[in-house]
Amino acid sequence: MTLKETLAKASAERRAVGHFNISELGGFKAIIAAAKELGVPVMIGTSEGEREFIDPRLAVQMVRIAREELGLPIYLNADHTHSFEKAKEAVDAGYDEVLFDGGKLPLAENIRITKQVVEYAKSKNPDILVEGELGYIGSGSVILDEIPAGAALRPEDLTKPEEALQFIRETGVDMLAPAVGNFHGLLAHGQKPRLDIGRIKAIKDAVLIPMVLHGGSGSLDEDFTAAIDAGMTVIHVNTELRKAWRDGMVEALQAMPNEVTPYKLLGPSILDVQRVVKARLSLFNRIK
Ligand SMILES: [Zn+2]
Repeated sequence: MTLKETLAKASAERRAVGHFNISELGGFKAIIAAAKELGVPVMIGTSEGEREFIDPRLAVQMVRIAREELGLPIYLNADHTHSFEKAKEAVDAGYDEVLFDGGKLPLAENIRITKQVVEYAKSKNPDILVEGELGYIGSGSVILDEIPAGAALRPEDLTKPEEALQFIRETGVDMLAPAVGNFHGLLAHGQKPRLDIGRIKAIKDAVLIPMVLHGGSGSLDEDFTAAIDAGMTVIHVNTELRKAWRDGMVEALQAMPNEVTPYKLLGPSILDVQRVVKARLSLFNRIK
């Protein structure tokens, strides 16, 4: 099944495909194990920083091997590329999806570069999907003391349905990441603001293509379910995994003060990340 077919199936069944980022092999193993346990599709993401650490060509091979071994729909996304050159690098490496993030750019500039990425990607691989971003939702998968400056949260700053339609028509993107009250990162104190479910539905009714919810960490379960019902087909979660990874690492170092074997020290982190991914995948796929 191609990624496009997997997204269409999820959307028809009112489920969402979970998208989780990796920095290294331990996180990758945890995500794959959770998807295998539940038998559901999953997307692996690597941001520009994560790609620099792993190497895009290695990430492509890791995902290819897991997909062939398990026979599960597992796909790789170049998450938040900020230039045409970085998008090109991921397309050339063999990624299944590329997100060009021009959410902070003026609309005309965002449209111009996104269109350039779509044209290049499709000329190289007709099956690759390109996602565009409309509206600024912060940038780091980190623990935050406060809501990131400039993040679109007031109703008048959220993505507008008519602007979204213009954007997808002029760029030719396959998927859209709108600003609907979501933002990247996890708040250290307090609950994240609620998602604007009405806005998700209005944008979906205008664009019809698969929509992607970024910044899933810390949102309420009921917001996720309502967002899927309103038209979200992919949900990104990263900071929750990073926190679980760190907590597992601290626990391992304290519990095994004399251990020096990396894969043994990584054990608790992998289990902690796997638990988080499994809980999110169960929710997104409506598995009780
Ligand atoms: Zn994101």
